[in-house]
Amino acid sequence: MPRRLVACHHCDYLHTEDDIPAGNVAVCVRCGAPLYQAQNNSIERSLAFAVTALVLFVIANSFPILGFSMEGRSESNTLMSGVVTFWQEGYPFLAFMVGLTSMAAPLLLIGAYLYVLTPLRFGFEWPGVHHVWRVLAIIRPWSMLDVFLIGLLVALTKLSDFADVVAGPAFYAVCLLIPASLLMSTQLDPRVIWRKLAPVGLHHPTIDDLAADSTWVTCHNCAFVVIGNGETEGVSCPRCGSRLHHRKPRSLSRAWALLLAAMVFYIPANVFPIMTVTLLGRAEADTILTGVGSLIAAGEWPIAIVVFVASIVVPVFKIAVLAWVYLATGFGQTRALRDRTTIYRVTELIGRWSMIDVFMVSILAALVKLGNIATVEPGFGAVAFCAVVILTMLSAMAFDPRLIWDRAGMLQQQGTA
Ligand SMILES: [Zn+2]
Ligand SMILES: [Zn+2]
Repeated sequence: MPRRLVACHHCDYLHTEDDIPAGNVAVCVRCGAPLYQAQNNSIERSLAFAVTALVLFVIANSFPILGFSMEGRSESNTLMSGVVTFWQEGYPFLAFMVGLTSMAAPLLLIGAYLYVLTPLRFGFEWPGVHHVWRVLAIIRPWSMLDVFLIGLLVALTKLSDFADVVAGPAFYAVCLLIPASLLMSTQLDPRVIWRKLAPVGLHHPTIDDLAADSTWVTCHNCAFVVIGNGETEGVSCPRCGSRLHHRKPRSLSRAWALLLAAMVFYIPANVFPIMTVTLLGRAEADTILTGVGSLIAAGEWPIAIVVFVASIVVPVFKIAVLAWVYLATGFGQTRALRDRTTIYRVTELIGRWSMIDVFMVSILAALVKLGNIATVEPGFGAVAFCAVVILTMLSAMAFDPRLIWDRAGMLQQQGTA
């Protein structure tokens, strides 16, 4: 039987699909990006982790996450408290972003997996399953409970300097929820889902189909390879229904616009305080940089290094790398194509970790509300910093890495994985 075609998401190099052992990942021969991962019983496993994750999510949202006491008074907060505090204190953008990344997106992600996998596992039909599966790809990057947990640890470290802190049941639920959600996605082989969701009788292109017409368009959403360039641009993908484009429309100009906006916000993000801490009547404003300084002064080296890397190194590195990738692509540079694709991929993965400081502020502001004894108030720096993280993420998403290869004059190519 002729083998099916798989195009690399990052460089559009065309491969033929191979049977690989379960747990192994096939990578692109040209750029090194992962193509697909094989799993046994992938639907059953992923569904089991999705159910576990849902139970943990409910626990994580029903109990206090942190409690602290100072001068005979005590307070506790839940996952929701940070969102409510930001909203009440006049920071709707931060309330929205923290709500989206620590609650809405993780829940929607779990819900989407359950909605898609349950009917597939038990052999019945639910409406709109392939739309839900399509939306899932959009939600995924915004689910940041793992980053939230680190923000929580930083908040805990800062608090323990002047108060007694205890972790609540929700804290342990979040610690377990992160691996459960991770396994929910990694145990699933998405190829199995698309095969089950494809319209009945849909022909999956093979190497033989390329003999008649050697051009193709890859679906941005489900990675289906549609043979023939001319007639396919702008029509719907026969497998998932998304509109087909040879490349993301106006990719480079959109990516640049978002990156330039991020550069602009980077200045207030570092100049204005991200929070003001009032302790026994004395108020002290913390910027991103002084926040790291105070962790070092308190001797909290490991946490100081984590915050320094996430809040200072990662944003600067990400802005610089994206600018370099966009410039080199715009000028059609032909050197280091593989390195550029890899570094773009890594940058896209690490950018979200900069949200640590935003989460830390949301937790402290919600928890520390003891008037003149101890209060933490968010500052405009946190808004600007959150905007930098979001804008760089959107910029990286707008960029189509396949342009790196196109602009260097590399024509569409094929080979075997
Ligand atoms: Zn590739
Ligand atoms: Zn598709």
